[in-house]
Amino acid sequence: MRNWLKIALATVLISGLLLTSIFYAFNLSIAITSSGDIEFSPGSIPEIDLADSLSEKPRNIIVFIADGMGFSHLSTALLTQQTDQVPSVWHEFEVKGWHDARCSYGPLTDSGASGTAMATGTPTFFEVLGLDQEGKHLKSVFEIASDRQYATGIVTDSYIWDATPAAFVAHTKSRDNAEDILVQIASSNLDLIFGELEDLGEDGVPDLETTISILERKFHLLDRSLTIPNQGTNRKPIAAIFDEDEVQDLDSSPNLVQLTEVALNYLSLQGKPFILLVESEEMDSGSHENDSERVLKGIRSIQETLSLILRFSKSDGETLVLFTSDHETGGLATLSNRKIYPNMSVKWSTKDHTATVVPLLAQGPGAGYFMAVNRNWQIGQLLKALIR
Ligand SMILES: [Zn+2]
Repeated sequence: MRNWLKIALATVLISGLLLTSIFYAFNLSIAITSSGDIEFSPGSIPEIDLADSLSEKPRNIIVFIADGMGFSHLSTALLTQQTDQVPSVWHEFEVKGWHDARCSYGPLTDSGASGTAMATGTPTFFEVLGLDQEGKHLKSVFEIASDRQYATGIVTDSYIWDATPAAFVAHTKSRDNAEDILVQIASSNLDLIFGELEDLGEDGVPDLETTISILERKFHLLDRSLTIPNQGTNRKPIAAIFDEDEVQDLDSSPNLVQLTEVALNYLSLQGKPFILLVESEEMDSGSHENDSERVLKGIRSIQETLSLILRFSKSDGETLVLFTSDHETGGLATLSNRKIYPNMSVKWSTKDHTATVVPLLAQGPGAGYFMAVNRNWQIGQLLKALIR
């Protein structure tokens, strides 16, 4: 074979090999770019069979959402907020799992999209409440429950029209539509709502007077003693509203434990099954500020409130308790080193939400079903299927 032909063939071969290896290397670099970004790969998940599997249905359901709480917050709780004498509330859950809180178009989410997914069983966009990606109304587990003669209630240490509580009762394109959400709360089938008011008269938020008049269309507003009035036969749903940051941690008066206790007593007196949402916003607020002290106080408030709820569930034996989060905030890490060991310090990697899976704990009748959960919206599907 003539030399020039040999050389030409060798050149083609070598450049081919070179190109392949470059392409191969580039392929790798496509997945992990030079700046270290990782390509999002949505993947798929197994469906949960809701047909004939839900034979064990609880009478009551209590959903506790700790906004912004990730596994690292839970680790910090287990490692720093325990007392030797008292067994940790976290160990009392028979089901300990996780769920992927991504929203419908990516790894990150906000409380609106994640709350909507857990309330309705359908993933959706950022900031949206009770609507799917096309803007179609999504019926929430609260709406299905009240259609089936359940009592429904919300207790939060955040403002009552905040994304998490609102995702269970309202339908609106933006979580910032304060007046629209308040009007929807006042025209919902809620029997009870306790929480704060915030930014009154600012950025489209109605002022105090207007807010109260909207709420009084439906609710009897309790005073600070939280005394439930004897309303006889014409029983009006009840609401208790507090100033901004008035309900924050155990030192607050009232605090989340006390509000939850009043709510459980009231719902138990309604003579029908109930579903109650309890939300703590302290992990999210504290982590957005990278405020470790606020987060530790928030953890103590969550633990005490959960203890009360689990005591209730144990005493009546017919109540499912679900504890979870809507996303992680702050990229919290609990570190130690030779100098401070075994003590620890908290480090933050961001002031934003992170794309991590979050804790999902369940206790009581029907808890076992939640072992099959992978995504936040499957929680919503299960909750709806568990309504009798
Ligand atoms: Zn947040």
